[in-house]
Amino acid sequence: MNPFVFNTTPSIVFRSGAAGQIDRHVGALLGPRVLLVTDPGLRKLGLCDPAVAALRNAGHELAVFDAVEPDPSVATVIAAVQAGIDARVTGVLGFGGGSSLDVAKVAALLLGSDQPLDEAWGVNNAQGPRLPLVLVPTTAGTGSEVTPVAILTVGGDEKRGVSSPVILPDIALLDAELTRGLPPSITAATGVDAMVHAIEAYASASANNNPLSRMLAREALRLLGANIETAVADGADLAAREAMLLGSMLAGQAFANSPVAAVHALAYPVGGIFHIPHGLSNALVLPAVLRFNLPAAAATYAEIAADAFPQLADTPEDSRAEAFVDALKTLIGRLQMPPRLRDVNIPQDALPRMAADAMKQQRLLVNNPRPVTEADALAIYTEAW
Ligand code: NAD
Repeated sequence: MNPFVFNTTPSIVFRSGAAGQIDRHVGALLGPRVLLVTDPGLRKLGLCDPAVAALRNAGHELAVFDAVEPDPSVATVIAAVQAGIDARVTGVLGFGGGSSLDVAKVAALLLGSDQPLDEAWGVNNAQGPRLPLVLVPTTAGTGSEVTPVAILTVGGDEKRGVSSPVILPDIALLDAELTRGLPPSITAATGVDAMVHAIEAYASASANNNPLSRMLAREALRLLGANIETAVADGADLAAREAMLLGSMLAGQAFANSPVAAVHALAYPVGGIFHIPHGLSNALVLPAVLRFNLPAAAATYAEIAADAFPQLADTPEDSRAEAFVDALKTLIGRLQMPPRLRDVNIPQDALPRMAADAMKQQRLLVNNPRPVTEADALAIYTEAW
């Protein structure tokens, strides 16, 4: 068996309603002064209020940083760190989608160590230590609560990652009640993001692709495939929301240790240049990238096809991978997501620049089951356009 390393968040609390009693689960870890990192939309919705009240009632002082934007910038992280310094915080609580969680991760790192951010980019360069860190996801998508990764936007259009076990949080608290009000379009986009994590982790060419990740990816696909349409159609369905939140976390654990590949690499320019939400960016390039990968990965995709789409168990094995790609495309349509790059107003003459930008994501491209050249990337974008 190939040797491998598997890291994950050491403590996971999965309980609907847990955010309102967050002090009991995480209060001791975070210490007396807590930096809450979230986004303005969630603040306005009052989604953090029960957690804020629980912590204040338990005697914690809270500094609230609620200025995280989607695809957050380095400037946002610096502002969050300053808020933490001003309040002399003892712990960081990230509360929100992947954007808020990623800002919380890097803020906890910069507040806890002297290492400049410029030395922390890339894989295993962040040294720490960091402040105590708790993450509470409010989307069922990124799995950031169990990944060693934080993605920030640099210079307005480049997505860059810090990847190090140092930024895995101490505790992930998953409360599906928080996701019940997630609008259908965000439920769909973030849910497809989670499915992509599972697919890319399972098929990853990484030397650290491992049996735990593959097992988690398959269970994630079962949960996500069986529940995504219900969660989009009826957001209040708590059982579907719980399954989505669990599925996205399992997919996160999978890809945290068997990293994602060309779907993400080609999605980043879509998000970075055109500010298309991350999950939708993935969905827009997913079928074309998987079709490109078929010569190298058909057998692998055939193994997981029926996990996501049980009806594919009856499809002959030699055509099951293609049927899997078709089923994903159909699902994206059923979820009312725009199917093509042109549908989100990306002009055709932007495709060469996007292909050049995608080549910067070598950290991800090396994990793709089939090598991707710039010409390949352009052909994939052209198919997706
Ligand atoms: P997001 O955090 O950008 O949030 C998107 C929108 O959803 C925001 O407007 C937010 O207010 C709203 N929202 C979130 N939860 C809500 C709720 N419960 N109810 C109502 N509205 C809600 O979206 P995301 O897709 O979760 O995160 C995307 C970011 O995560 C990108 O920057 C991406 O690069 C990054 N990412 C990180 C990892 C990782 O491992 N760290 C993995 C994948 C993606």
